[in-house]
Amino acid sequence: MRDKHFYDFLHRQIPVLIVLSLFPGLGYLFLGWLNGIFVPAFIWYLLVIAVSLWGYRLYRGLDFDTMSEGRRDRWYRQYSWFFYAFFTLWTLIFLLYVGQDAYKLHYIAIFTEIGASVVASSLLASDRRLYRPTIFILMVPLIVYFFLIGEWYGYVLTAFACTLTWVLLYAARSSHDLLMKAYHQATHDGLTSLYNRHYFVEHLQKRMNSLGESSEFSYLLLIDLDHFKTVNDSLGHDVGDRLLQDVVTRLQQQLPAGDVLARLGGDEFIITGGDFGDRAACERAALELAENLIARLKEAYVVDSHHLYISASIGVSIISGRGANAGTFIKEADIAMYEVKAKGRDGVFMFNEEMSARVESRLETERLLHFALGNDEITLHFQPQLDRTGRIVGVEALARWNNATLGAVSPAQFIPIAEQTGLIVELGNHILETGFRTLRAWHDAGIELDQFSINISMRQFTHLDFEAQVAALAQRYLDAGLRRKLTFEITESIVAEDINRVILVMNRLKAVGIRFSMDDFGTGYSSLSYLNRLPLDELKIDRAFVSALGHQEEGRTMVATIVNMSTALKLKIVAEGVETAEQFDFLVAHGCQVFQGYYFSQPLTSEQFLTYYRQRQ
Ligand code: C2E
Ligand code: CA
Ligand code: CA
Repeated sequence: MRDKHFYDFLHRQIPVLIVLSLFPGLGYLFLGWLNGIFVPAFIWYLLVIAVSLWGYRLYRGLDFDTMSEGRRDRWYRQYSWFFYAFFTLWTLIFLLYVGQDAYKLHYIAIFTEIGASVVASSLLASDRRLYRPTIFILMVPLIVYFFLIGEWYGYVLTAFACTLTWVLLYAARSSHDLLMKAYHQATHDGLTSLYNRHYFVEHLQKRMNSLGESSEFSYLLLIDLDHFKTVNDSLGHDVGDRLLQDVVTRLQQQLPAGDVLARLGGDEFIITGGDFGDRAACERAALELAENLIARLKEAYVVDSHHLYISASIGVSIISGRGANAGTFIKEADIAMYEVKAKGRDGVFMFNEEMSARVESRLETERLLHFALGNDEITLHFQPQLDRTGRIVGVEALARWNNATLGAVSPAQFIPIAEQTGLIVELGNHILETGFRTLRAWHDAGIELDQFSINISMRQFTHLDFEAQVAALAQRYLDAGLRRKLTFEITESIVAEDINRVILVMNRLKAVGIRFSMDDFGTGYSSLSYLNRLPLDELKIDRAFVSALGHQEEGRTMVATIVNMSTALKLKIVAEGVETAEQFDFLVAHGCQVFQGYYFSQPLTSEQFLTYYRQRQ
């Protein structure tokens, strides 16, 4: 037990012992003067003062947070010698006074020795290496003294003194065990018996102080299990706990000697270790360790006859003594770990500065996005959709965010952030309202469209209020005829949701008149059988396939296949991202009906669209 609490405890004992020695020491000096042994008593007292000064220096010399492990060990050794010396001084005064039985000073001497032993056993209980020798230093001379009396009562006192020694040792050991137990509970995790966050942070700080002196490097691995929550939620916490224990066993098996492993909480673990003279070697070792850990963790687990598979995301940061504190490095590893999660989990990343800049800019975007709606910074642009004759048949509404500090932010950037923060519900609602209002206004201005498409994010779609909000807005802005022009674009990720509920909601909205389009078709993983179950009206060929048309044989095959398939499924087909006449011609030749892309027009503001519409008709 060598952590901050331990040192704090030791530290507090120094002034206690100095005060307990300097003041009663004066009494002994006085007694010595009264009984004619002033000179030896005075010398003794000078020694007490000297040792006290030494103790005071030790007291001032401890600064736990900045000391390296080596310096702390040195401090501790000196501290031990200080205590041995102090208690030896008390044995010395005992030896001096116990001979003075003519003046009855020996009573005082005997009492002093017993008192000092009691003080030692209680003050030093936290450390076996301190209380054992000091109790012996104090009690053995007393036992010998009683024994040397040579009379029957001397032997009785010897027996008593031995018993007292045993009791003191016993009491000190019990307090010590209790302290150790409390310490263990405060520094370890109950479920896995690994060190906890509290201990780890302290350990890391110590390591960093040492690295600061040696200018070496260590690594820090932050391990987060992927989809552990699913196991917990679907199979129960008992299975989850057992799985965690198995994970810990595997981690321990892979752990290089001398590395420290701790559980930060939940399904997060952290490892630090290694002493490397150069940074590159440290990075190599860290990545190798991380890869071994991932490979081992991915092997099948059998818990309660369930066969489970999990993977892990690991963030690595390299630590050195450079000024920072332990928390900074844990945060760096955390950022790297989140980067792994964002890139699809099951992997390892090393922290770098560019990563932290990205995180910061993301946080800033997130913060500003919260005010975007209130400040009316989100608007809609509209990209025309045309048929093969060039008639404008519809538009797709695309969100735009114009911010004073960030400038124009792409929806590809802010929509995912809005989804992750839950802001998409409010934002989506605003987009729906703006879209519906525009459709209404255009209709009143004599613009006749077949369809008006709005992108719906999955998180927005699955929100419990979605249906009610759409119904309320439709009620407010659109009559039955206009509602039938609405198309909601959803993406293939929707099939990862509760498919039956998705179908239910889609059918209810279809009853209102709304049609559905599968956006970015071909980029996701949805199977045909799923696709067939969804009540879709339209497929949008992803612009990646369209742009591949000119130069890749596969692009052409892919587009032809999608068009054939949608014909079989009786779905309307829209090609997006059409940029050239060649692409357009190919798509027309293969039976595509609706076209959207820069070849015809960029997304336009509402006014721009009105002008464009009037020019084309
Ligand atoms: P998307 O639904 O696939 O939208 C089409 C994107 O392609 C738009 O980008 C559009 O400007 C762009 N585009 C159109 N024609 C061409 C072309 O010929 N060539 C190329 N290279 N690009 C073309 P934008 O507006 O930046 O939107 C990006 C994505 O953001 C959208 O992809 C959509 O997933 C999402 N998004 C946009 N608005 C909304 C919205 O209101 N709600 C939701 N949930 N998502 C939106
Ligand atoms: Ca779209
Ligand atoms: Ca698309």
